Amino acid sequence: MADTTETDWVSRFADEVISEAERRAPGKPIVCASGLSPSGPIHLGNLREVMTPHLVADEIRRRGLDCVHLLSWDDYDRFRRAPAGIDPSWAEHIGKPLTSVPAPPGSPYASWAEHFKAPMIEALAELGVTYTGISQTEHYSAGTYREQILLAMRERERINAVLARYRTKETARTEAVDYYPYKPYCELCERDLTTVTAYDDDSTELAYVCECGFGETVRLAEHDRGKLVWKVDWPMRWAYEGVVFEPSGVDHHSPGSAWVVGGQIVGEVFGGERPIGPMYAFVGITGMAKMSSSKGGVPTPADALEIMEAPVLRWLYARRKPSQSFKIAFDQEIQRLYDEWDSLGRKVATETAQPAELAAYERAVRTAEGPLAPTPRPVAYRTLASVVDITTGDVDQTLRILRDLDGELTSLDEARPRLDRAQRWVDTQVAADQRTRVRESPDGELLAALDEDEHDSLRLLVDGLDEHWSLDGLTTLVYGVPKVRAGLAPDAKATPELKAAQRAFFALLYRLLISRDTGPRLPTLLLAVGADQVRKLVGA
Ligand SMILES: [Zn+2]
Repeated sequence: MADTTETDWVSRFADEVISEAERRAPGKPIVCASGLSPSGPIHLGNLREVMTPHLVADEIRRRGLDCVHLLSWDDYDRFRRAPAGIDPSWAEHIGKPLTSVPAPPGSPYASWAEHFKAPMIEALAELGVTYTGISQTEHYSAGTYREQILLAMRERERINAVLARYRTKETARTEAVDYYPYKPYCELCERDLTTVTAYDDDSTELAYVCECGFGETVRLAEHDRGKLVWKVDWPMRWAYEGVVFEPSGVDHHSPGSAWVVGGQIVGEVFGGERPIGPMYAFVGITGMAKMSSSKGGVPTPADALEIMEAPVLRWLYARRKPSQSFKIAFDQEIQRLYDEWDSLGRKVATETAQPAELAAYERAVRTAEGPLAPTPRPVAYRTLASVVDITTGDVDQTLRILRDLDGELTSLDEARPRLDRAQRWVDTQVAADQRTRVRESPDGELLAALDEDEHDSLRLLVDGLDEHWSLDGLTTLVYGVPKVRAGLAPDAKATPELKAAQRAFFALLYRLLISRDTGPRLPTLLLAVGADQVRKLVGA
């Protein structure tokens, strides 16, 4: 479906959210929400949970309206399992709140939850995402939801009846008796291996026993060590916070899921309404090298930001509707992605971008608070990748080559941060056998075996180097040499014979320069190697 309106999906949701907010809570700040569980490394795919409401909230703020983006850290959830690679002794913490579990060994953070929140917080700051973070541990421990908890307990039969609509016969037999929507964390062992055995609405006295053998009776009106079960907790917070927009993943939308059940509980129990909530599709990753996938083997937003600039990552989310799945490239595809991004930048500069393209671009490069830091003089990513590959990061050599490409560049800082992202990509994602090693000395054996025709081609190349010493010039030169040898005009159309001759010429150059049959684009390679070294290696 083509975008024919002047807006994009973000604008359309903003329209809908603004009018819904006026109906539900006129004059109050508009509330968009996200939730993340810091139960382990937060997967790059989960960034959509934050970016979708961020973009909508940002659009609403751009229109001058007051809008809050709440990010709920579900850090009061139970620790479910000790992941692979973690000391098996962490299994003793299963059942405790994530904020009560020690951080992985060596971490500077106080808890498991803090350890995994920290890199996400850093990534969101770099992405220009402004939000109000809410620790569910803090809220539950401070008794923030006291009235809502007591209400849910009073309405437990009603809640149970909603849940019963979705229970299969099998689970109905085992679950339906004595339903309580509140789960205490054990006072003694801190785990949630507890069962509520009795509750009195008038006194709010609640009795529970724990698998550890402990048991006690508490007054729920004063008890701050426990939480509502997930299917009740979520709709409670929709009502408590007045959430108007909150997307969720496809896994939340099956019959009996928290989204579906919560939509009924929020109205029947808490007197609220379910938010406008698009279901967002899966975000995949292509080609993340195993060697670099950080702690836990999961690609995180921080990993993506090491190899691409924040505006580019924002753009990936802005340009696709939430219902469209897409992939984030850690492989060679990132070079094509950057070509597309630069091409869009040129279209925007020349005012030839389509309205939807322009909208996505604007959302990528700035927020309502201001622009994200750009690379002052951006060189094509694929060129930067080739340059740092060939120079192995040598600063002087890199500056020399980049100056050949952009005469106005005065220091490498002007090519940053894009340069650093390309460097990181080459260092972590390009396999050792794909790296380029420029020969130090000529391949005498190969040169001696060349025929007269090949020598003539190389002489033509060398004679044209100085005159063509730019990316465009060298492109013309390397394609032109086989044309001249074939007696064709420089603008001659490519025939199969000519293409074959060009391929053979390119392969010869790769063998002479880097002892391989293929490599980075030749003009970039020639620039990177430098004219003097090219002359030396091709023996002309
Ligand atoms: Zn216990």
